[in-house]
Amino acid sequence: MTTESAQFGPQYGFGVYIHWPYCAKICPYCDFNVYAAKGRDPEPLLKAIRKDIAIHRPRMPEHGAADSLYLGGGTPSLLAPDAIAGLVTAAGDSFGLKHDAEITIEANPNDIMRMDLEGLKVAGINRLSIGIQSLRDHALAFLGRDHDSDVARAALKRAMKIFPNVSIDLIYARPGQSEDEWQAELADVLEYGAPHISLYELTIEERTAFGKAAARGQMTPMDDDDQADLYELTQDVLSAAGLPAYEISNHAMSEKYQSRHNNIYWNGGDWIGVGPGAHGRLSVGGNRYASEAERQPAAYIANVQALASGWSEASKLYPLDNARELLAMGLRPSSGIDRTRIESISGRTLSQAKIDVFVEEGWMVQDGPRLALTARGRILADALTAELSP
Ligand code: SF4
Repeated sequence: MTTESAQFGPQYGFGVYIHWPYCAKICPYCDFNVYAAKGRDPEPLLKAIRKDIAIHRPRMPEHGAADSLYLGGGTPSLLAPDAIAGLVTAAGDSFGLKHDAEITIEANPNDIMRMDLEGLKVAGINRLSIGIQSLRDHALAFLGRDHDSDVARAALKRAMKIFPNVSIDLIYARPGQSEDEWQAELADVLEYGAPHISLYELTIEERTAFGKAAARGQMTPMDDDDQADLYELTQDVLSAAGLPAYEISNHAMSEKYQSRHNNIYWNGGDWIGVGPGAHGRLSVGGNRYASEAERQPAAYIANVQALASGWSEASKLYPLDNARELLAMGLRPSSGIDRTRIESISGRTLSQAKIDVFVEEGWMVQDGPRLALTARGRILADALTAELSP
């Protein structure tokens, strides 16, 4: 093993990511690879994904059992429990899943209310990530969600009766949202006692319906300073409630509830990405590869059938790419990253002068070789990463 490859790969975690691209309704802010579910037969895509997982196995002889399996999307909770069980089994048959593997599915509140949650557990799922987004009806209507706050509350209660490991997603920094409103909404959410909360600032992406509305002047995104104020408020309220941030957007009651799957991304581990548009990082023979699957479901299915791979491409990453990616990802969690890993991959020393400035400004802490952002530094994560990049 070369020095460079010792700094990433399955020894830092190994996961399976499955992208299910269909949604009951496309939300106006969504920039993911998604398609309307209506009238689609899920079977051809399920079959292709199961086959794609199996195809990955012989390419990755160094990989042992997976630490995690993540069904994301899109809306994988549109699938029936037996279809979900088929995907979990496919991952287990090809790679094996560790006895304590984290197996997550993203779910919409409407699906939680109609789903057989016990069946989901039998299928192997042990963590639910629920797209609550808000507990305010006007906000849910603005975000174009197809659930209201009553359904969000009922789904949360129902899920938590059956799954101890529940995560909820919330979107804030909505246009016009005040600090008082957000604080009251957070207090409301915290009443439910979910052990993990992911909080995302609303970002307006150009190619989305919101992006087009903003370009026409029909929507004004919240300005950066107000967003930063809401971010700081979020940190304070959640820390005081016993859910400190363990990453820029993620909060957990304890280490037990931190996302093991996402930790693989932040820690330079490996994952296979299967399903339309899914990305992967694979370490093979001392090299690291970035894989990207065909985005269109029909093209993905055709690729799996014809070429025995769902990939549209798998390119070798160069040492500098690996080092820069590891710095950007490694500074996201509050535990930070060992700088010697980045220096060993890139062959370049990170600027101590810049690190000193960041520490002086209260943006970063340095503990031996470990660098980590503070709560204030996390607001500036992108800029600090770019500045320090090897
Ligand atoms: S449900 Fe989620 S993945 Fe689907 S369109 Fe809405 S935000 Fe995007």
